[in-house]
Formats: sequence, C-alpha cells, structure tokens
Amino acid sequence: MKEITSTEFETEVLAGGKVVLDFYSTECPPCEALAPKFEGLANLYGNDIRFVKMFRQQNKPLAEKLGVKSSPTLVFFDNGVQLEKTMSGGIKRSDIICQLDSMLPADRVAEIKSQIKPAISEYDVVVLGAGPAGLTAGLYLCQAKINTALIDIALPGGQVSTTHEVSNYPGFVNPQPGYMLSHNMSEQTKQCGTIYKVAVDVTKIDLEKKEIVVDEFETIKAKKIIIATGTSPNLMGIPGEREYKGKGISYCATCDAKYYGDKEVVVIGGGNSAVEEADFISKFAGKITIVHQFAAFTANKQAQEKLIVNPKVNTLFEHEPRSFVREGDKIVTEIEDLKTKERRKLVSDGVFVFIGMKPNIEMFKDKLELDKWGYIKTDEDMQTSMKDVYAVGDVISKKYRQITTAVADGTIAAIAIAKELS
Ligand SMILES: Cc1cc2nc3c(=O)[nH]c(=O)nc-3n(C[C@H](O)[C@H](O)[C@H](O)COP(=O)(O)OP(=O)(O)OC[C@H]3O[C@@H](n4cnc5c(N)ncnc54)[C@H](O)[C@@H]3O)c2cc1C
Repeated sequence: MKEITSTEFETEVLAGGKVVLDFYSTECPPCEALAPKFEGLANLYGNDIRFVKMFRQQNKPLAEKLGVKSSPTLVFFDNGVQLEKTMSGGIKRSDIICQLDSMLPADRVAEIKSQIKPAISEYDVVVLGAGPAGLTAGLYLCQAKINTALIDIALPGGQVSTTHEVSNYPGFVNPQPGYMLSHNMSEQTKQCGTIYKVAVDVTKIDLEKKEIVVDEFETIKAKKIIIATGTSPNLMGIPGEREYKGKGISYCATCDAKYYGDKEVVVIGGGNSAVEEADFISKFAGKITIVHQFAAFTANKQAQEKLIVNPKVNTLFEHEPRSFVREGDKIVTEIEDLKTKERRKLVSDGVFVFIGMKPNIEMFKDKLELDKWGYIKTDEDMQTSMKDVYAVGDVISKKYRQITTAVADGTIAAIAIAKELS
C-alpha cells in the first residue's frame, strides 16, 4: 500500500488499472478503525487492485474536487474513471469487499476468497458493544491489567453519540454534546490499551465456548464475555414504515433534524425521548405535530414544561398513526383518534418515531434467562444465567436506563471479573 499526495494522483490513480483511494485524517477514530481492514484487504486484493492512501487535510482541493467531505472516505477508480460508489464513516470490511468484488471477474474473486485464512485471537475478556456500559467495563478491566477486546458492529459510543445534548451526566457544569461525551469515553478506554474491533460484522456468537466470530474469518476467544449491546428503537409495524424508513421516517433527531429547516414534521411518541427530541427538532423545523397515544405525556416534568411553551409544537393526544404514504415530497401520516375512531391525514415533510426501545439480543436470546420483556436477567455482579457471561447497560432487566446506570453496570461487572481473574 502506498501513501501519495495530489501531485502523484495522475500517475498513481488516473493512469489506469483498478484503484481504491483512502482519504484519511489524523485524530480520526473511524480512520483508525478502517486502517487495519484496509491493510488486510490490500494484502488480499493487492495484485488486482492498487490500494493507496492520501492525507485529506494536506490534499484538500483534490479531495473536494472528488466530492470527499469527511474522513475516512474510500473512492474507487477503474481505468482512470471515478466510480459512483464512495464509502465513509464506520466502514465495514464486508462492504469494501462487496465493492472490490464488483470490480473483478467472478472467477478471480473466487480465487482471492479461497486465500482468506481464518485468524484466531485470545483475550481474558471480550466485551460485546461499545456504548457507555461496554466502554466503562473496558476501562476498568484495562486498568486492572486484564487483556480485553471490545467489539462493536458500529463505531464506539452507542446511543450517546446520536443524542444531541446530555445535561444529566455528572461532572459537567454545562450540557455536553452527546458525540463529545461518547468520544471522550471511547478515547479514555482506548488510551488505556483496550483492543478495539469496531464497525465489524458479528458473524457468530458461541456463549458456551466463549467464542465470537467477526467479519466471517476472525475468531475471538475469551475466558469471559460481557454483553453490552444496548437497545434499538421499536418500529411501529404499520404500513409504509419499512418502506420509508430512512426516506422520510427517522428514529434519530441528532442525525436527521438538520434536514428539516423551516419544514413541517410529525413526531410520534410522548415519553422522554419523544419530548426531548421534539424540542431539539424545533430548533430546525418550522412546525411540529406530536402524535401521542395517551391523554398526557409520560416524559419527566422538566422536559414537558419546556415543550408546552414551545410555540412551534402542537400535540394530538389520544391519537395513533395507522399508515404512511408518500405523496411527492411529502409523507402523509394517517392517524386515528382513539376516542372517536375517526381517521384523518397529516401531511408533513418528515416523521420522527420515538416509541421506546427493544433489547439487542437476537444472536443469543435462546441461551440466556430473560425477563418477560426480553431483557437479560443478571445477578448483582451482572452475571447472567450462564457462567462467565455477564451483561450490562440497557440490555439488562432493570427499571431505569440512563448513561449513569449503564456505566455503573459496566463498573460492577468489570470489578467482579477482575477479582475472579486475579
Ligand atoms: C434519543 C435518546 C436520548 C437519550 N438521552 C439521554 C440523556 O440525556 N441522559 C441519559 O443518561 N441517557 C440518555 N439516553 C439513554 C442512554 O443513551 C442509554 O441509557 C445508554 O446509551 C445505554 O448505554 P449502553 O452501553 O447500555 O447501550 P448503547 O448506548 O445502546 O450501546 C450499545 C452498543 O452495542 C452495539 N451493538 C448492538 N448490537 C451488537 C452486536 N450484536 N454486537 C456488537 N455490538 C453490538 C451498538 O452498536 C452500540 O454501540 C438517551 C437515549 C436515547 C435513545
């Protein structure tokens, strides 16, 4: 793999052949996450596709000319022509492979794939999930000199990285942007020496054997596993939702509110997330209609009071959405008045859904004891029903799911494990 500058772009990239160019930056966690994957793939595909890197900050005019706006970004070229597909952010190995394969003949792809050698690594503890709970467990384990790996299907940070502002995490006088809080948590754990395997595909989890396979080829073995996989937003399960998910229907205000400057949006839900996020969305949108199934919000009083005086927000209590349809640029939400059973249509530019969360347990739900809502049961050391398997954070059965309770769980599990292993 070669590092180039813009002056070598013509000769190294445009002169011909197949090329993948990585625009990277320093102090860029997603770039660090990509680097070993890029290098590994360069070794595998290097005879057929040239792998080159360019430092984005020092080659900005070229980056901008190629449409590169963030680091890392992978840009692909075939015979001097830039291909339509680019990749940025938490780039997965499987996605790069998919793109590289599409640039080569099928028989050559099969030949390359046959050269992939399985890899095995061993740790004392593997933490699955790098949100606040997993990062804290990683930090405490690392400080106790326990060899620990942290695995996440996304970049580290968990839900906090998509929360616009956190005002109730102790230690900060002023509210903190969620992405900064999660960035600092992640850097603290990484600097301590915890090994990160992030933005990977988790292919297989064998809790009995304490083995996790990532990206189909790497088996990670441990003496103990901590599950810290958190929760994901509930879907409403009504017509049109899956179809327009990400295309007008969003579950993340931090990610998408900025696209609704002066526009009209519908927010569905009435708990803390819905009420706090509606207030955040109102910084951008011109008008917000909240649709909530109960006669009053269930969010905390402070959040409610802020929303009630917000002139951009109107609430339809005791209403539920029944379907979504796209009409041109607009999303039409059909809603039902739960008292009169009357249905009508709300036309808006976008819809945000905040109707609670479900635990991320798909890959091991049959192996562990769960509560009736599907959350993992643990004892006071955070041990699950299976020996040497712990669970922490939002994924466990408990009453209150907050950053503070997640980091507390991570702390407890790590201290309990450190005592056992010493
Ligand atoms: C919109 C919103 C606003 C919030 N605001 C606040 C607030 O202001 N204050 C507060 O205290 N709390 C807030 N919370 C709650 C807080 O974010 C959570 O309690 C906290 O993030 C839980 O941490 P966690 O580590 O248990 O899980 P998460 O933060 O959910 O992290 C779980 C991690 O596991 C990863 N993962 C999932 N499945 C797998 C898998 N199979 N393999 C590997 N990795 C996996 C995910 O990618 C993720 O990184 C908010 C939540 C939301 C949704």
